[in-house]
Amino acid sequence: MTSPERRDELAANLADVRARIAAACAAAGRDPAEVTLVAVTKTFPASDVRLLAGLGVTHVAENRDQEAAPKAAETGDLTLTRHFVGQLQTNKTRSVAAYADVVESVDRPRLVTALSTAAVKAGRTLRCLVQVSLDEAEGRGGAAPADVPDLAAAIAAAEGLEPGGVMAVAPLGADPAPAFERLAGIAAALRSDHPEAGAISAGMSGDLEEAIACGATHVRVGTALLGGRRAIVR
Ligand SMILES: *Cc1c(COP(=O)(O)O)cnc(C)c1O
Repeated sequence: MTSPERRDELAANLADVRARIAAACAAAGRDPAEVTLVAVTKTFPASDVRLLAGLGVTHVAENRDQEAAPKAAETGDLTLTRHFVGQLQTNKTRSVAAYADVVESVDRPRLVTALSTAAVKAGRTLRCLVQVSLDEAEGRGGAAPADVPDLAAAIAAAEGLEPGGVMAVAPLGADPAPAFERLAGIAAALRSDHPEAGAISAGMSGDLEEAIACGATHVRVGTALLGGRRAIVR
């Protein structure tokens, strides 16, 4: 698709998503300025990142370093806050620390250590969110709720890292609202230990309304903004 057509499509999708966020905020009695839209651009080209930035998007996310690193390089001239939201192997932390501003998927102490070393080497500060597992029987990553306080403390103590809050993905095939309510409780406890760590990253294309009702400060939206992704076999 040529750029002007793609630009129009992204502009229309962005207007729809912003309207959904505004309506959800109105329903929850919240100020839309409290909710940051993070565009999840995985599987889409750097040209889409550029178009979205031109349309006013300021936060973008990727979930695989192999894809994120070259895309960040191609769009390095843009002023964007770059989030990493995928499961992260420690051997990728050095690469991720070079371009990411926020790592939302911190779920184990070993990763805190590796990210800290990488951030110091890169001379950068990484904002780290603790990814919380809200689903007992899943494989999408995330720390058990009971482990969140220790992980947040480790992040706060680590050189080159700062605690940002929590991130979660709603359980597959279940009502997201109770899960997001649990997350809000976990987030409140974390914030009482680390007042600066107020982010609650929850809600995607299908459940951003429920997340905003439960206090989400960041919604991570892919499909509703960019369209359907081709399945990636991993
Ligand atoms: C892909 C992805 C999203 C976006 O999902 P959509 O349903 O396409 O909006 C959000 N969060 C994470 C962690 C993702 O991997």
